Amino acid sequence: MAFSEEVQLQAMDRAGWRCECVRDLCATHYLTRCPSTISMVTAVFVRKKQTVLGDPDKLSNCEVLCQYCGANAAMDEFKPTY
Ligand SMILES: [Zn+2]
Ligand SMILES: [Zn+2]
Repeated sequence: MAFSEEVQLQAMDRAGWRCECVRDLCATHYLTRCPSTISMVTAVFVRKKQTVLGDPDKLSNCEVLCQYCGANAAMDEFKPTY
């Protein structure tokens, strides 16, 4: 989690201060976008995909989530991909 504050603010703007999660593993918003509103304090910023070491994290790779979806995303991330 190494997004700069500038990228975080831009991501929040893009998201309309709402969680961007569309994961179907979240029970709270099955098949729709998460309805949770978030603030800079409650938001969880996650990478959409792993970046190359030394490559700065950009807005396009930043997903803004609420606490609940952030926890789900963390579990998602640790799923083996092979
Ligand atoms: Zn959410
Ligand atoms: Zn979610």
